Amino acid sequence: MIPASFDYQVANDVAHAIQLLASSGGEGKVLAGGQSLIPLMKFRLAQPGFLVDINRVSGLSAIRENGELRIGALIREADLEANPIVRQRYPIIADTAAVVADPLVRNLATLGGNLAHADPANDHPATMLALRATNGERVIPIDEFFVDTFTTALASDEILIQIRIPKPAARSGGAYLKLERKVGDFAIAGVAAAVTLDERGRISAASIGLTNVGPTAIRAQRAEKLLFGQSADDKTLAAAGAAAAAESQPVSDLRGPADYKRDMVRVLTQRALRKAIARATGGA
Ligand SMILES: Cc1cc2nc3c(=O)[nH]c(=O)nc-3n(C[C@H](O)[C@H](O)[C@H](O)COP(=O)(O)OP(=O)(O)OC[C@H]3O[C@@H](n4cnc5c(N)ncnc54)[C@H](O)[C@@H]3O)c2cc1C
Repeated sequence: MIPASFDYQVANDVAHAIQLLASSGGEGKVLAGGQSLIPLMKFRLAQPGFLVDINRVSGLSAIRENGELRIGALIREADLEANPIVRQRYPIIADTAAVVADPLVRNLATLGGNLAHADPANDHPATMLALRATNGERVIPIDEFFVDTFTTALASDEILIQIRIPKPAARSGGAYLKLERKVGDFAIAGVAAAVTLDERGRISAASIGLTNVGPTAIRAQRAEKLLFGQSADDKTLAAAGAAAAAESQPVSDLRGPADYKRDMVRVLTQRALRKAIARATGGA
């Protein structure tokens, strides 16, 4: 398939990119890794009149931890997965990057593109919900970022520059689990769980994000509330799994009937919580 014709310009820096977008009269789209945008254009499901390529803007791919974790929006999935800070201190993010598509896609696709695309089947939105992330200059809390399917709170002339993740408290852990039909596919369902335990091993904070079981990535807030103050035993995790399943809003499609997906949310929530708790207590 061949995309409709479009104009194309390379941005030199962030200010230039914003200026190009602003001058496009709403026709402009950021081009990052192109792994979602180009296929949509080839199928003519998107027909932007103007692409602003941000791939040569320097300084947008850094990862720094200083009070909080700051990840440049242009970081490629492969670099995110291999980053030592991410692997050692935020393994939930490495879990997530590792199950996005396949190595070819991961060499190009960016974290910013994954979030800005706002496909409920994308894997990072649930993880960023669980990690309570915000973004760069105009700070948009993650709960307000995903407005609807393929729609975020970013204005048409705004660029996602940075993702900011609060530093985890002591005895914190997180994990992302995804069920897929085959390696490289979008999720049938995915669950991101992050927990903090108190000194007695009770759950003092929990956040849960769900992938591809709603119009956007969604937070399982009733499940989170159920976990608060509880000991991390099988009964508690089973109750949280059931609550998350009840909060999910899957639809039947080629990846399975809605009831099956709901039950997978139940199972994956328990497993992701178990893994997050193991990591919070020093396990892998
Ligand atoms: C074969 C295949 C399999 C895939 N499987 C998965 C999967 O399993 N899980 C998954 O999560 N994804 C999957 N994807 C989708 C893709 O990997 C992600 O959506 C990807 O991360 C998009 O990033 P990108 O940099 O390529 O974005 P692009 O395609 O360049 O852009 C996507 C959208 O985001 C906007 N955008 C990009 N960067 C910014 C920015 N910094 N600021 C503002 N707007 C921006 C663009 O304008 C566009 O609307 C798959 C894709 C392919 C081709």
